[in-house]
Amino acid sequence: MARAASTSGPSHILIVGADVFGLSTTLAFLERPEYSNANITLIDAVPDLPNCSAASVDSSRILRADYALRPYTKIVSESQRHFQDQGPCGWGAQGRYHEAKLILTAEPGTEDHVDGYLEESFDTIRGLARSGELKIGRHGYGYQNPTLVSIADLQGGGLLEALASVPRIDLPVPPEGQPALREFFVKIPSGDFLLDYYPHACGLFLATNDSGHAFKVFPVIGDKVVDAISGCLPADLHELWKWREEVAAVFQGTDDGTRGGPRGLILEHEHQGRDTSPITNL
Ligand SMILES: Cc1cc2nc3c(=O)[nH]c(=O)nc-3n(C[C@H](O)[C@H](O)[C@H](O)COP(=O)(O)OP(=O)(O)OC[C@H]3O[C@@H](n4cnc5c(N)ncnc54)[C@H](O)[C@@H]3O)c2cc1C
Repeated sequence: MARAASTSGPSHILIVGADVFGLSTTLAFLERPEYSNANITLIDAVPDLPNCSAASVDSSRILRADYALRPYTKIVSESQRHFQDQGPCGWGAQGRYHEAKLILTAEPGTEDHVDGYLEESFDTIRGLARSGELKIGRHGYGYQNPTLVSIADLQGGGLLEALASVPRIDLPVPPEGQPALREFFVKIPSGDFLLDYYPHACGLFLATNDSGHAFKVFPVIGDKVVDAISGCLPADLHELWKWREEVAAVFQGTDDGTRGGPRGLILEHEHQGRDTSPITNL
């Protein structure tokens, strides 16, 4: 898409990646009068979209709005209203949106506040089992893939080596998870999105870290990206999604109260069936 240069906003915008974050952001730019004169270029690594290896390509996605953090509940509820629009041009058109029941399970003796949910879940399970329609998510602490990577040395110049857990897309679910899982996704430790300028490169804005829950905000996340680029993202969202220079030296899994199972599993060990003891120093 090409347009004449603007005198206010940036005259050229390059968006890399044409999926949830990239498409939603492009749409938001196109709807903002202050960017109406910008040249917007959207590129992707594959010639034919969607990329069948992209995280969003699947038969279904869950739109759960109950979070421990209020800003997420708010933004997902806002997004859900778009998906509920099943009119000809709505996000939920052509049967894309279906309201399903939520099932919560817990170990016996779990704290009282989940009791009401659990009772309702029994009814839901009975209904779904009858209709043969059930999608199960196992919220564990995940697998880590510690790898030495080269990063730019911003003080001295040149490159530094650092240990990071790098995503792998070429491996199936490890044997440990196979009885329960069919697919898995990549998360960062906090589970939060990242929407901020990268402080060490002029004009580079990062909209990423989907952490397994960005599809549900497809209709609205682009607006938040453009708000952040324009410097008018609400303070609570900026705090949640800002660039963090420091990363935890020891990461054992996101502690948001929704996870269970073993911590610190190493992806490669799980595949090779050797030394399955969890690591403690990543
Ligand atoms: C198994 C699984 C289950 C999930 N379940 C849910 C769910 O129930 N609910 C929910 O809300 N979310 C869910 N998610 C997460 C959701 O699918 C993602 O948050 C969302 O798809 C992320 O969108 P994205 O645009 O960041 O990445 P992607 O959808 O992966 O798209 C990235 C795009 O960038 C392109 N690209 C990559 N590298 C380059 C490059 N170097 N140059 C140019 N282009 C490039 C790719 O070709 C692709 O088009 C799930 C994810 C997975 C994997």
